[in-house]
Amino acid sequence: MTAVEPPLALLAELTHRCPLQCPYCSNPLELDRAAAELDTDTWKRVFDEAARLGVLHVHFSGGEPAARKDLEALVAHCSTRGLYTNLITSAVLIDRSRMQALAAAGLNHVQISFQAHDPANADRIGGYAGGQARKIEVAGYVREAGLQLTVNAVMHRQNLDELDDVIDMAVRLGARRLEVAHVQYYGWALKNRAALMPSRAQLERATATVDSARARLKGTLVIDYVVPDYYARRPKACMGGWGRRFFNVSPSGDVLPCHAASTLPGMRFENVKDRGLREIWYGSAAFERFRGTGWMPEPCRSCDRRETDWGGCRCQAFALTGGVDAVDPACEFSAHHTELVTSAERESAAAAPAFIYRRFGAAVPA
Ligand code: SF4
Ligand code: SF4
Repeated sequence: MTAVEPPLALLAELTHRCPLQCPYCSNPLELDRAAAELDTDTWKRVFDEAARLGVLHVHFSGGEPAARKDLEALVAHCSTRGLYTNLITSAVLIDRSRMQALAAAGLNHVQISFQAHDPANADRIGGYAGGQARKIEVAGYVREAGLQLTVNAVMHRQNLDELDDVIDMAVRLGARRLEVAHVQYYGWALKNRAALMPSRAQLERATATVDSARARLKGTLVIDYVVPDYYARRPKACMGGWGRRFFNVSPSGDVLPCHAASTLPGMRFENVKDRGLREIWYGSAAFERFRGTGWMPEPCRSCDRRETDWGGCRCQAFALTGGVDAVDPACEFSAHHTELVTSAERESAAAAPAFIYRRFGAAVPA
């Protein structure tokens, strides 16, 4: 059995509050209320414990992390502990002076999410009027503050044909990296799957667009792009493998191997208020549950990719098959793979239904 290594990165979900309402949001359907959020001192203790555990990177996320008034204080605290800090933000709550204050606090990097290139489409998808104009403005403040910028674009059937323009926009904004992130279908996105699923033809055009942009923009813009699961033949290594490199802390302090892990039934996730991060990382049953390869069923157990994709995504496997140990249906060796591809093709060929927007109380777990 391989020894458990220390984690590299912590995704700190400071809050589930967010002014946007993206229908693919990776937050759980049952959002944590503001009253349940960890206070400033508890977050600082979590970052101290993370640094001692070996974590190098802290990604501030949410919801919208800038909804927390103590964001600057938390960034400054991480900075004093030698942690590299990345702010993952919708940007709409940030103005010029706040960006300068975050830079002064020691922030290293900013990742702004964009819903599309066309402002009307972007604002419609995010459910927030004026959001796109604000993001473009804030991207300027990021560069002005001397910080590195990544553009994150979540792509789906209702914006994938804008990909060329999204790439040009990232270059114009001075981003060094563009993440072209296809929607992952669990939580809110699974509820909106038919409204979001691209067609195979759209996907092939997008892949060709990325290939040509990568060649054209070598040295200017790095583009991260992975073919989405529903049209892939093998799954991705979700989170680099369960409990191998990353963990999340939810707004209320639950420690999770990935941001969707709370969708899995029968799992008990421990909380930073009850136990230290080191004990949770090395000793909690939830982290042990799918760590390594011992839990795997056949055909994963004897597959030569078992230590490459680590069996794919447990949340997707459960959402689509009802089994937490099932082979991820993104793998062509899964008995559910054909149905997965067929459903993707069927849904993408039909008219897109209206979005169910991500709001407190808008959806309940299935
Ligand atoms: S995906 Fe959209 S709704 Fe969810 S946290 Fe990000 S900006 Fe907010
Ligand atoms: S059988 Fe399992 S380990 Fe092999 S490629 Fe498929 S999901 Fe990955």
